[in-house]
Amino acid sequence: MNQNVYCKRCRKTIETRADLVTVWKVLSPVSYHKACYEVEVKSTRGMLLGTPINSVTTTVSSVMLLLFCVYLFLRTHSWFFILLATLAILMRAISWLRIERKLS
Ligand SMILES: [Zn+2]
Repeated sequence: MNQNVYCKRCRKTIETRADLVTVWKVLSPVSYHKACYEVEVKSTRGMLLGTPINSVTTTVSSVMLLLFCVYLFLRTHSWFFILLATLAILMRAISWLRIERKLS
């Protein structure tokens, strides 16, 4: 099994987790070097890129969303909020399982 992580823009190997940015694109996470991600964001294609999944901001936002969804579920008993929380956690987990865990 190939454990290398490649940058979507320059196709070179990403060596460390500190240099990695993962972005959700269509139905799967995509990896970039930090510098390549910034170039992509500044280009016209940057409009199509999402927020980095593996950032501290996204992780904190996901935890806050989870807590808020649990609160809304307890108040409304609507499973929609549990589904919403599960999707946010799944996106973060898939990014880690498919890309981030391969890097140190
Ligand atoms: Zn790159």
